[in-house]
Amino acid sequence: MTQTGKGIEIPLIPQNAIGPKVPPSGYLVEEIADGVHWVTDGAYQCAFVVCENEVIAIDAPPSLGGLVTRAIRDVTSKPITHVIYTHSHGDHIGTVDQFPDGAVRIAQQETHAILRECADPARRIPDVTFKDSYRIQVGGQTVEMHYKGSNHAPGNSFVYLPRQRILMLVDVIYPGWVPFTNIAQSKNIGGFMAHHDHALSFDFDVMITGHLTRLGTRLDVETQREYMRDIRGAAQHALEITPEKRILARDTVGMDHIYLYFKTMYEAAAAEAAKPVIRKWSGRLAGVETLGVNHTLTMYHSLRLDENVKPQVVFFPPTDGTSDHHH
Ligand SMILES: [Zn+2]
Repeated sequence: MTQTGKGIEIPLIPQNAIGPKVPPSGYLVEEIADGVHWVTDGAYQCAFVVCENEVIAIDAPPSLGGLVTRAIRDVTSKPITHVIYTHSHGDHIGTVDQFPDGAVRIAQQETHAILRECADPARRIPDVTFKDSYRIQVGGQTVEMHYKGSNHAPGNSFVYLPRQRILMLVDVIYPGWVPFTNIAQSKNIGGFMAHHDHALSFDFDVMITGHLTRLGTRLDVETQREYMRDIRGAAQHALEITPEKRILARDTVGMDHIYLYFKTMYEAAAAEAAKPVIRKWSGRLAGVETLGVNHTLTMYHSLRLDENVKPQVVFFPPTDGTSDHHH
């Protein structure tokens, strides 16, 4: 822990969570292997592939904005002819309108459906869609897209470069860090969990994850899978201790304000159950001290609602011979 001038405690960030330094230009562009480049501002990541006569762009986060095109132009003057959307979210494709109108936009069907609903001029509806997989073969490069079902967002797809052994999957794997808030804001927690195994089923060495400071590896995927399994175990434990937290909530805030009652009960269960996970991962994955309880609580609700795991039902013991529902 370090302390700010105002006495706020900031957990230490493990060395493994710190990537290459971003130059004063505000972006880092690097060739990973044979034409495949990643671009980052230290918080967001996108990519592009240089082919014989053209460029395939993948995502354009607003945090980088026009710097994406500048990064491409640092490397090549070839025209951008294809634009891949990994998923529909504005924070990853919100500035794809910087690419030429003539460039073909490619995304999964679910992404198309979401973008049609949004009708956001900055995120044009894709011209080409696919259901399970799609392959682009241009100018000596092969780029595959694969969809393995809903995860962080419906439509969120793998982008795979088989020859370079590079895999891109955005908003699921967080190299060196635990996932972002509410389990990476996942629309489908079961799908999010399954995507660790789906990722490892690809033959790859390097991963572009869409966020944070560095590229990922297979080990990062395996490490996060272990962390997420621990979170799932903690959430199961939180369900087990919910009956006692029910009593705690009733005795501290009462039951008249029903939202306050449930919030107190849930948060007490998650806070207690997350403790061993935070102890285990502190110093190994950045952010666990900050989000371990949040992840446990998110998983708790997923178990309860998606998987129908029920907290053990106990009825409050009558205190004076009458039901506690009777005030
Ligand atoms: Zn997203």
